[in-house]
Amino acid sequence: AEAERVWRPILKSSKLDDVCYDIRGPVLERAKEMESEGHKIIKLNIGNLAPFGFEPPEEIVVDVIRNFRDASGYTDSKGLFAPRKAVVQYMQTKGVPGVDVEDVYLGNGASELIVMSLQGLLESGDEVLVPAPDYPLWTAAVSLAGGKPRHYLCDEASDWYPDLADIRKKVTDRTRAIVVINPNNPTGALYPREILEGIVQIAREHQLIVFADEIYDKMLYDGREHVSIASLADDVFFITINGLSKNYRSCGYRAGWMVLSGERRHARDYIEGLNILASMRLCSNVPGQMAIQTALGGYQSIQELVAPNGRLTRQRNIAYQMLNEIPGVSAVKAQATLYMFPRLDPKVYPIVDDQQFVLELLEEERVLVVQGTGFNWPNPDHFRMVFLPHEDDLRDAIERIARFCDRYRRR
Ligand code: PLP
Repeated sequence: AEAERVWRPILKSSKLDDVCYDIRGPVLERAKEMESEGHKIIKLNIGNLAPFGFEPPEEIVVDVIRNFRDASGYTDSKGLFAPRKAVVQYMQTKGVPGVDVEDVYLGNGASELIVMSLQGLLESGDEVLVPAPDYPLWTAAVSLAGGKPRHYLCDEASDWYPDLADIRKKVTDRTRAIVVINPNNPTGALYPREILEGIVQIAREHQLIVFADEIYDKMLYDGREHVSIASLADDVFFITINGLSKNYRSCGYRAGWMVLSGERRHARDYIEGLNILASMRLCSNVPGQMAIQTALGGYQSIQELVAPNGRLTRQRNIAYQMLNEIPGVSAVKAQATLYMFPRLDPKVYPIVDDQQFVLELLEEERVLVVQGTGFNWPNPDHFRMVFLPHEDDLRDAIERIARFCDRYRRR
């Protein structure tokens, strides 16, 4: 009888119907399979710094090890006082007014806080303005929370800055919030003050919450400076999200934070919701929390990497130059982050399915990138790559991409 039992299929929840996160999707599965068959793959697909020899600052590692014994208990749901206080000071240095320790929530990476902040906010059918292209967790988290992502365009012809007119067009009476990813993943853009002021003005007029994802705010090239959008007003409600993953090359420590600022007297009920969600997961991992204070305590080693002759700057320059030398490929120079989002001219590369394009690139040249539509870009004419490998490997990788493109053009 046991052998004949028919199992009812176990289906995923319909809450996941519109949720998609392609950075770790089917092409990555194929890459893993190829690796298990013994092939060496050059991975330009995720912003994971450690495998490319970007070590976390020694001071942070030593501190985590030293504190580890004392990190075995739960903390307050929002996190330990000292690292939250360090975040308050950090916000002060960025000119964000009126932040108190109670406004700071620590999380298991920025990711957890992104999901939490939208779960606590959205009713079915509520809309959130999300950039296209975006870091796809934002779109996925809006959908998971029952909301509707409405994508506003970032303009490749203007250094990938958000198109303010398009944002205005897409505001409806269901719009609750706008997401601003600055510096931007996947485009590498860093937004100027005027654009941010324009977004603040729209948020003010339509009473939108501004979600500011600033996780790359120290990864800036050519001496540029980052402006926190929350520093521009005290009459708009901002939720700023940041963490150690990128600036401090410690993504495995899962240390992130979220800061409420600006006008929030009208948001008491939502904040109570955030507190409930924070309590339900008891607290974020404590060794990660303990790394935050040390990191923000002044160790600025990222500066060496993004200095004019620093490793990341040199690699950015190589990627920019080599990508633009491929016929029909154009890439806007990253002003920040570790990504570029090159365009494949549709007249030269008539791609219908960009996932198929990156899969063929993987099969034929053993280079892994992510298709542009994985970042909610509407057309199959872009891909995203990281410029993390050392110079020689990076050159090798882009030569392979060029070779693949060359064959693609001829077929
Ligand atoms: N936000 C952006 C724009 C990212 O690129 C990433 C990771 O790549 C995250 C958030 C998530 O970071 P964390 O490691 O803190 O969860």
